[in-house]
Amino acid sequence: MFKQVALIGMGLIGSSLSHAMRRKRLAARIVGHAKSAATRAKAVELGLVDEVFDTPAGAAAGSDLIILCVPVGACGDIAAEIAGAILPGAIVTDVGSVKGCILRDVGPHMPKGVHFIPGHPVAGTEKSGPDSGFATLFDNRWCILTPPDGADRSAVEKLKQFWEACGSVVEIMAADHHDLVLAITSHLLHLIAYNIVGTADDLQTVTQSEVIKFSAGGFRDFTRIAASDPVMWRDVFLNNKDAVLEMLGRFNEDLAVLQRAIRWGDGEALEKFFTRTRAIRRGIVSAGQDTAAPDFGRGQNPKT
Ligand code: NAP
Repeated sequence: MFKQVALIGMGLIGSSLSHAMRRKRLAARIVGHAKSAATRAKAVELGLVDEVFDTPAGAAAGSDLIILCVPVGACGDIAAEIAGAILPGAIVTDVGSVKGCILRDVGPHMPKGVHFIPGHPVAGTEKSGPDSGFATLFDNRWCILTPPDGADRSAVEKLKQFWEACGSVVEIMAADHHDLVLAITSHLLHLIAYNIVGTADDLQTVTQSEVIKFSAGGFRDFTRIAASDPVMWRDVFLNNKDAVLEMLGRFNEDLAVLQRAIRWGDGEALEKFFTRTRAIRRGIVSAGQDTAAPDFGRGQNPKT
């Protein structure tokens, strides 16, 4: 599909993309760049790329597809650095978990004649780094593309076909809508997981070993989510502030209703609420979105 694909960032998502591309022979050549020399060396050792470059511009030069696979807060500076090296007609995309900030930070740097189409594979694990990737990460997972107004249709179609070849099911959406949807389905969930694990850690009367020993299904999933990359998630919350605060406000209101029902012994209200949420769960299962290991839709390794 492409003569040369540049992966800027070679962690979980970048390395998984390399494996997925190699699996289907989607690129004649894959080149890459990462911030640290250690990751660049590891990427060569693992065969993720045919060549690494010390600068993002070095990797971008001569590539007809450039994929930014770095934390969203780093994308703007990288876009500025690579702008002069991008081939006319090349597609520039990203995999960031927030899309409004990518339009805002990357868009203005894109030269005329370059097709800039942000994207987000809704697939992942709590692992990070170049050796955490695997070819099947995107299989049967959504990938959301958020092309800006006036984006070239054939370029959008080509990127869609690329993600489909990587295993994904593609949906096109406006960036601000994406950010609102993901705020509730993913971002708030991560905040809750970070918080509940922090709360458990702070407890004086329940020992650490008890938390570990009795961490049944639900809590174990929270600890897994709370092990997600701190830099990536810092950037998600800083860059999807409005949508996350909106969802957090609603969440707090609903939590207060539950808190009140518990305080007043209102069993009927609790049962009614839990019956409603159970119906949602059943809807998810019948829509085929269920996963064997609960991971709140963050993706799982189908091999495990
Ligand atoms: P990761 O495993 O931590 O990898 C990040 C990569 O970016 C590393 O190779 C890192 O290089 C590189 N990097 C960071 N800052 C850089 C900079 N300024 N210049 C050049 N390279 C830089 O992260 P990831 O999980 O692949 O996430 C990457 C992106 O995918 C994020 O935007 C995230 O929102 C999105 N995403 C993640 C998931 C998920 O579940 N993890 C799912 C969907 C989308 P070094 O190793 O040298 O530091």
